[in-house]
Amino acid sequence: MKLAILSRNAKLYSTQRLVEAARERRHTVRVLDPLRCYLSIAPGKFHMRYKGKELSGIHAVIPRIGASVSFYGTAVLRQFELMGSYSPNPSDAILRSRDKLRCHQMLAGEGLGLPLTVFGDNPDDTTDLLGMLGKPPHVIKLNEGTQGAGVILAETASASRSVTEAFRGLYANFLVQEFVSEAKGADLRCFVVGDQVVAAMRRQAGEGEFRSNLHRGGTATAVALDEAETATALRAARVMGLGVAGVDLLKSKKGPLVLEVNSSPGLEGIEGATGVDVAGAIIDYTVAGVRRPARAPSRR
Ligand code: ADP
Repeated sequence: MKLAILSRNAKLYSTQRLVEAARERRHTVRVLDPLRCYLSIAPGKFHMRYKGKELSGIHAVIPRIGASVSFYGTAVLRQFELMGSYSPNPSDAILRSRDKLRCHQMLAGEGLGLPLTVFGDNPDDTTDLLGMLGKPPHVIKLNEGTQGAGVILAETASASRSVTEAFRGLYANFLVQEFVSEAKGADLRCFVVGDQVVAAMRRQAGEGEFRSNLHRGGTATAVALDEAETATALRAARVMGLGVAGVDLLKSKKGPLVLEVNSSPGLEGIEGATGVDVAGAIIDYTVAGVRRPARAPSRR
């Protein structure tokens, strides 16, 4: 099968592992930088070129689109979809999951657990808005932040108010959440591929830190999920329409709470912590998707 990985950097661990897993399975695979793909659109005719050559006949595209190139990257992926290529993560699903606010609304709409979340626009409403959350600590998050950057713990009402006001002054989109203290600085990264959680790890924040992201010095260990955690992770990925997703959960008194659904989850941390061939699972799932009969163009 002819596969392409859409990635800005062929040297990244995740990209390299996907290439390796595809070659092990005797597929033809190439890495395409989405920013070097250019395209033409005419009624019923979609073309794409790459460094002076036509791109065609690619059965499946595995998108690894970073947050900084969401817009162009998903436009390229959409063009592939229109040209008949399959993607385990459709362009629309990636766009949906990039917007934290939208993601929370969709998950809550399906009854999935998440930390109580508020947002508002007018500074005059800040006190009442924060009042809807209850007592601090509060967690304030930039809407499009990743890897824990732009996630702030405000321990007092005045800190919560002043950070909210500062973000407003910068015209940033953000949301404010209750702080789930029972999680004790740990979260669960559940790696969903199709209808399975193929690997899961517990990430623990370093000393003096509440964010458990590995990029912020968190440590990872393999973990066995309970039934509720597995079901929540699978439902969250399904609600977002993602075939491959990193679903982050917090353990709480109310059961598992969804923090985030990531459409380009990194492979290094999870493969390192669990020893699972996650890249192989993604390739197998992608190839099965191409072979599935009566496949609609890969928009769900
Ligand atoms: P990012 O997308 O930047 O990783 P997250 O929403 O996943 O942002 O938050 C980063 C980390 O901060 C999480 O992995 C978790 O450890 C911690 N965290 C986030 N929200 C909360 C919350 N409401 N209560 C407790 N801890 C939280």
